[in-house]
Amino acid sequence: MRCIFLGPPGAGKGTQAAILAAEWQVPHVSTGDMFRLMANAETPLAQDIRGYQSRGELVPDHLTIQVVRQRLENTDVAKGWILDGFPRTVPQAEALDALLGDLGQICHWVVYFELPEDVLKARLLGRGRPDDTPDVIETRLQVYQAQTAPLINFYNHQQKLVKVQADAPVETVTAHLRALTPS
Ligand code: AMP
Repeated sequence: MRCIFLGPPGAGKGTQAAILAAEWQVPHVSTGDMFRLMANAETPLAQDIRGYQSRGELVPDHLTIQVVRQRLENTDVAKGWILDGFPRTVPQAEALDALLGDLGQICHWVVYFELPEDVLKARLLGRGRPDDTPDVIETRLQVYQAQTAPLINFYNHQQKLVKVQADAPVETVTAHLRALTPS
């Protein structure tokens, strides 16, 4: 199983990816987690990543693509993966298509987590992550609308998009995902 979880911050992608990755026995590849790990060092690169995260901005595409390429070239991801939080821009999605072509892999599904903005804001405020302050949340949602939302059309054209109503209890969303994405 290879699938992408697409949707705004706070939609529950990470929670569902962790549950289903364990069930399907495939790695949960979260660029947010990878960048949080990379940010945890005293290097100029780590400092730059902390800057983007703390402002709610995206890490530049070239760096993000390089990190994902290295991750997907590992042997543990050969039999499948769930990508959570990547791609987040059209250039990232194009680079992923090229990378998957090189690797001889296909992505089976792109799951779009749909939910109303007021629910999102409440969820993000409740998470208590350092990048979940009201100002940063506003920026992250704007960045999502401008840069990530166009991917809904991108993957719709590829006929890979499936939608899940993410404004429901965790177990309900998990059950929908199991039903939508037969492995
Ligand atoms: P997340 O945990 O997925 O919300 O990601 C947290 C932060 O990591 C984001 O606000 C970005 O700064 C950075 N990040 C994660 N994934 C990406 C990506 N695909 N492209 C650029 N930046 C990313």
